[in-house]
Amino acid sequence: MECHQVLLKSNSYYKNLSEVLKANFQLRTLLFISTTNFSSEPDFLVSKKMKIIISSAFVQITFGLKTDTLNKFNDVFVAPSSYSYKNNTAVFKGDVNIATKKVNMSWPAIEKGFKITDDALNLSIHEFGHCLIFENHTRSYFSKIFNKADFENWKNHAKTKFQKVKAKENIVLRDYAATNLVEFFSVSLETFFEQAVYFKENEPELYESMTQLLKQDPINKKNPIL
Ligand SMILES: [Zn+2]
Repeated sequence: MECHQVLLKSNSYYKNLSEVLKANFQLRTLLFISTTNFSSEPDFLVSKKMKIIISSAFVQITFGLKTDTLNKFNDVFVAPSSYSYKNNTAVFKGDVNIATKKVNMSWPAIEKGFKITDDALNLSIHEFGHCLIFENHTRSYFSKIFNKADFENWKNHAKTKFQKVKAKENIVLRDYAATNLVEFFSVSLETFFEQAVYFKENEPELYESMTQLLKQDPINKKNPIL
């Protein structure tokens, strides 16, 4: 019940789902929470509500896939505010550390990501997108997250779009996407979920390749699963 109320209030993707899919979404959210260690600084409590909100991003991305948990990136550190690292002046809102397998995200940025539902900025979706790419890469052939052919197809369309972004002939995706293919995937995910119609209208082939890859089409809000 608590899970439903929190999701209803905080996650617009969930809010639009059919009743049957809502129930499934809740189960997947609770499963993800139970397989993830959430931590923060000693004086900052990561509440159940926060865990539900953060986990809902992962469930949203993987809702059409068999994969419902992560095997390696099971630690989520919730920073009370933006942070920086020793010997580095850059300020982060979130990052995924491949060495420690830790997902770091700042709570204000997480919250903002869900509050503004149509600006194609959602930190949790972005960072979990990185986890999926990294895990898919390291998993054995039989436990891959993405179907190999779907992933290759997506990569081909992504590379074409990548060149457009680099050539400054880009609309739809923010320019940060051109950093590398890993960032491209996460930025695409944010746009896929928050500006689906606009994405499909302007980059139909790339959009289509993402629906195949993720086995869902967010334009069908009530029943996105393909
Ligand atoms: Zn990133």
